[in-house]
Parts: sequence; C-alpha cells; structure tokens
Amino acid sequence: MPAKVVGGAVRIIAVGDELLEGRTADTNSRWIQQALGSHSVQVSLIQVVPDRQEDISLALDRTEAGDLVFVTGGLGSTPDDMTRDVVAGWAQVELIEDPSVKRQLKERWEKRGIKSSPGAVRQSLVPRGMTPLTNPVGSAPGLVGRLRDRMLVLLPGVPQELQGLLLPAVRWLEGNGALPKPRRTMLWRTAQASELSLVRSCSGIRGNFPTLDWSWWLTDWGVDVRLVAGAGKAGGGDLAAAGEMVDEILGRLVYSRRMETLPQVVQRLMLDRNLTLGVAESCTAGLIGGSLTEQPGSSGFFRGGILAYADRVKTAQLGVPAELLVDSGAVSEETVMAMADGCRKRIGTDYAVAVSGISGPDGGSPDKPVGTTWVAIATPSTVFARRYRFPADRQRNRLLTVAAAVDSLRRVLEFGDEQPPWQPSDSWCRPS
Ligand code: ATP
Repeated sequence: MPAKVVGGAVRIIAVGDELLEGRTADTNSRWIQQALGSHSVQVSLIQVVPDRQEDISLALDRTEAGDLVFVTGGLGSTPDDMTRDVVAGWAQVELIEDPSVKRQLKERWEKRGIKSSPGAVRQSLVPRGMTPLTNPVGSAPGLVGRLRDRMLVLLPGVPQELQGLLLPAVRWLEGNGALPKPRRTMLWRTAQASELSLVRSCSGIRGNFPTLDWSWWLTDWGVDVRLVAGAGKAGGGDLAAAGEMVDEILGRLVYSRRMETLPQVVQRLMLDRNLTLGVAESCTAGLIGGSLTEQPGSSGFFRGGILAYADRVKTAQLGVPAELLVDSGAVSEETVMAMADGCRKRIGTDYAVAVSGISGPDGGSPDKPVGTTWVAIATPSTVFARRYRFPADRQRNRLLTVAAAVDSLRRVLEFGDEQPPWQPSDSWCRPS
C-alpha cells in the first residue's frame, strides 16, 4: 500500500504552453514520481497548465491544505517565466532578494563572462517563507517551503535541471517532515525486454511477497524494475528474499543495479578491460556513436564510426561485397556481419558494432516488414548477429536499435564471446 504524504496528497503542476500544445512531453512529472518511489508515496493529481498567471493560480487553488505540491517550469529569467511571482501573489507574501542566490548567480555569470540583466536578477527573488536550493546544473534555484499550509516545491522546467534538483528537494522534504522516511528499495535496470514480459516473469514472486511495492518504468534503454520494502520489520526480510529471486529471473537482462545509464556501463566495461570500439551504422546514422560518447572519458575506448547509410558506402568504406548486398540485401544477417567485421578491421579496434534496419515508414516488404533490424557485434574471435522486429514508428525504431546494439555489446563484454549474447526467450528479438 502506498504511504500517505505527511498531512495530505502529492500533486504536480506542470507549467508550459509547449506541454499543452504537444511540442514537449511532460517527462518532468515522471521524474518527480520516480524520485518519490522509495518513499512509497503516490502522486494523486497532475495538472498541466499554460504560462498564464490566472491558470497557475487556479491550479494552486485546486490543491488542498496539507498537500505536497510540486510545480515545474517558469522559474527562468524571461517574461513568460512567472511561477515565483504567481506563488508569491497566491500566498500573499512578498518576494525578497536572497543574497546567497544573488551571489551564486553573479559568480556563475562572471565565470562565463556574461553581464547580468534585470530579467536574470529576478532569479534571486524568493517568496518569503521559501528556501532556495542550489541548482547543480543551471542558474534558477529550486524553491521549497510551506505556504498556505501546503508544502510547495518549485522546480525549473528544463529536465536536466529538474533532475539535478530532485534529490536535494527530497532530502529537504524528509528533513522537514514532509515525507515519510524512505523505505529500503532495490533497483534492476533492464534492456532488451518488454515491460509485459518482465511483469509476467516476476508474477510468481509478486504473489509470494504481498508486503512489497513494485514499479515498472520505461526508460531510454529499456525498463527499470523497482521493489520497495513494506513498512515494518517483515518488509526488510521480504525485500532481501524477493530480491534474490528477481536477480535469478532477470539475469542477463539487467545492465545495472544502480542509477547509471547503459552507455555508462559499457564505457566502464570497455575501460576496465582496456578495449577499443568502432561502430558501423546504417539505419541509425550516428545515434549509436552519439550515445556512446555522451560521457566524458569516452575517448578512452571509442575510436570512431562509419555512417554507411547507402549501399555504395557499405562497399567502399566497410568492404561489404557488392554481390552480397545484391544477393542478401542491405538488411540481412550476411550484410550486417560483413559490416561489423569490416568496421573492426578498417578502424582497427578490438570490437565493432554494426546495425542495418528498416526504420520506416516506407521500405518494408512482406519478407522484411518495417522494424526489421539486424544488429552485429564483432569481437576479436567471432561475429554475432541477431534480427529484431521493432514494432514502432521511425523515431522509436531507431532508438530501440541503439538500445539493442549497445546492450548486446554490454552482454558480450560481460559474459564473454563463447556464446551469442542473446537467448531464444529474449522478448525483444523473438521472431514475429
Ligand atoms: P528557462 O530558464 O529555460 O526559462 P524554466 O524553469 O523557466 O527554464 P520553462 O521555460 O518552463 O522552464 O521550460 C524550459 C524548457 O524545459 C521548455 O522549453 C521545455 O522544453 C522543457 N520543459 C518544461 N516543462 C517540462 C516538462 N514538464 N517536461 C519536460 N520538459 C519540460
């Protein structure tokens, strides 16, 4: 059973015209919900409102005394960023300049050689009664405090800034009695498995441990599974026992047990083993290389890639025989293996990843429908290849390809290359 927030319910107000117009998906609410997961409290209402004073104020009116209210967006320095002013007006408190925020902003601008503007100075204004939290990523501080008997948490709209502020905000709320004590949790970050298949494979364990709370989250790389201990002593024992069973069932699907991304895991594995990597990308045209070089330090293992979108480039740059492309087609086991092998040899790396697929919406055939994608991993001693049939649109199919390729490499690095990194039961690549 989800716990109650001390006093009331959790509500989120997501501010932004772009959210209502469909230009931006409200991913911030998801992050907030996730941050509250280990407290086992549930969000009971999300209101998405435009950048308009009356609408933000009305959304605040719809909250109740005792609630914990998160507001995201509208903390920037442009005139349409009005959250702090609206909150001050709604609570009938003045905005006061916070000297420590002002100093931090000034230092930040000086470091970047930027002159302050009157708009930017507004970011140091704090509704009386609220506490600023330093923003580790951007300039606008988060603001927390109790006003009109609600515990308010004001966070920036930019997702990276919001994520950076969530932990300090949650810690502050715990320290100020607005959240129950966090419960013990366990996390499994998985890739190459559908949410449904994970829920099904854990269903037996769920039945045995009714005191535990389960959550499932779609991520850029797959699905996260989180288990939260129930209240009381039995909760901790159940968590440990259930955790062992989940470990066993999820096995190689798990790329991490903590909050790190799949490219971070691959980078760690490559650097630990002093290995080098090249990529040969057709349908993803650079997305795999891009994701693997997001982390600082990637130059320690990543050597480069060949964007072999056209057949001519597959032949000229990767040495894929022209007749093989004619006989088997660009999206085939033979081609993707030749791409991976050619990439490894031509770039001169220990490992290579190659992908070739039909992302859609055109280009499919009865034999090779849209979503058909081949992934190959070349190692110093062998080349593995696997076909996937992704079920989504062009953009999502390309992202699924990146996740499948990076995770397949992770599996080879982790489990060795004596066996293919896939199993017949893998739900992502089961033939349809
Ligand atoms: P800024 O300093 O950029 O003005 P801000 O705190 O005022 O930051 P907004 O202007 O509301 O925030 O939003 C900045 C950007 O963050 C938006 O362009 C949008 O792309 C993104 N964003 C805002 N709200 C959300 C949300 N709920 N989910 C995901 N992205 C969001």
